[in-house]
Amino acid sequence: MLGGMEPHALPHPVPPERRIYCNRTLNLRSIRAIGYDMDYTLVHYRVKEWEERAFDQIRRRLLLRGWPVEDLQFDERMVIRGLVVDTELGNMVKANRFGFVVRACHGTRFLDHREQREIYSRTIVDLSQPRWYFLNTLFSLSEGSMFLQLVDLLDQGKLPGAMGYQDLFRAVRQSLDEAHMEGELKDEIVSNPDRFAVKDPEVPLALLDQHHAGKKLLLITNSDWGYAAPIMSWAFDSHLPGRMTWRDLFDVVIVSARKPEFFTSQARLFEVVTEEGLLRPATGGLKKGTAYFGGSARMVERHLGLTGDEILYVGDHMYGDVHVSKDVLRWRTALILRELEDEVRAIEEFRARRAELERLMEEKTLLEDRMDRIRLEILRKRNGYGPVSETPIEELEERAQELSQALLELDAQIAPLAQASAQLGNENWGPLMRAGSDKSLLARQMESSADVYTSRVANFLAATPFVYARAARGSLPHDP
Ligand code: IMP
Ligand code: MG
Repeated sequence: MLGGMEPHALPHPVPPERRIYCNRTLNLRSIRAIGYDMDYTLVHYRVKEWEERAFDQIRRRLLLRGWPVEDLQFDERMVIRGLVVDTELGNMVKANRFGFVVRACHGTRFLDHREQREIYSRTIVDLSQPRWYFLNTLFSLSEGSMFLQLVDLLDQGKLPGAMGYQDLFRAVRQSLDEAHMEGELKDEIVSNPDRFAVKDPEVPLALLDQHHAGKKLLLITNSDWGYAAPIMSWAFDSHLPGRMTWRDLFDVVIVSARKPEFFTSQARLFEVVTEEGLLRPATGGLKKGTAYFGGSARMVERHLGLTGDEILYVGDHMYGDVHVSKDVLRWRTALILRELEDEVRAIEEFRARRAELERLMEEKTLLEDRMDRIRLEILRKRNGYGPVSETPIEELEERAQELSQALLELDAQIAPLAQASAQLGNENWGPLMRAGSDKSLLARQMESSADVYTSRVANFLAATPFVYARAARGSLPHDP
């Protein structure tokens, strides 16, 4: 049994949170090679456990600087993917697709509407400026949470020396970088993968289907060999038939890929010669069965004899996996967004109340429109111009008064529903993909870079290697 179904049977219909959603039509039959990222793509981590350890590692490094951070704790509700750090002001913001800030906090304190307007009404979040740092992956949550708590400490005058918010951010960034690159954190994960990662037997099965359907499978990860090999083996080997291992599944294995540069430049290629990860410069092209270190996407294209639109790359990092591979090489792209499952479920559960909210908003629009017309009529009557009705001003004013009362009552009904809607998924920040009634900046990034998006790689199982995923007709404000 796999996830409650017979191995040969596929769930039908696929529940909404497990579907593959399409920005641009993708015919998997015309895809010849599928490249996979590893961390948070082929292998999903238990976010709280992983990020708590990463947070501890950052904290340890900051303690060495003499900062009083021993009591700080990772707070998983405080930060979500897709938020943007304002390194200049010590804030975290959520922006809509135009870069307008819709919600913000300074340190761990949320700004009220007035403060937010004062600070951001003339500011556009432009990710090409160094001021802004986009939280691209679930690996970003620990640094986001740490940064906000440090801002509180700095404001309270508890950090030593003259520092600004940008210095704080640099310190956090550097500490997390070190934590990811030095062995300790990874050793802990490798020695107890069940504690930190989630096994999903549907992933190896989905990849087996793709392999036997003739797709070349590629593993392209930034993790190093010493980490990637044991984690892949843990995630795959016991779910593959006979003596097959994960190494037999992939035509190309590249570790320490250094994405996003992997997609833009030509780094040297090394062969991983021993299980311990000993390297030697690679001569000739890529060979099946050999694991590589470094190299570039162009080498992969040459080796496969394929062009961008025949290769699908699947990853969780908005910038490093899908933005750059799409932008530079025009590879087809799939974004893995695990949070989508909770979010889609929350949206489903809210469905009846959403309908009620929409009905009330329609009613409000109607009343407002009536009110506007009465106001205009009063205005014209007072100033003696334009076509007007026979109704006396006093009566019009009385009607306006009644309407105003009705609108107040309506607003009282709307407010709790609107608030619940704004808190779907996360009580502080609301849904990942929405900013108010508009799309979020994350949604905008996602639709421009990812041809399709889905919560997990296992969702390709039910889609099959033959799926023709069609994009829905996009909606425009003037659509009927
Ligand atoms: P991938 O997702 O399979 O390409 O692997 C991501 C790798 O990048 C993992 O080994 C992570 O530990 C590492 N990583 C994630 N965030 C950071 C960071 O902020 N600095 C350095 N390495 C990171
Ligand atoms: Mg990843």
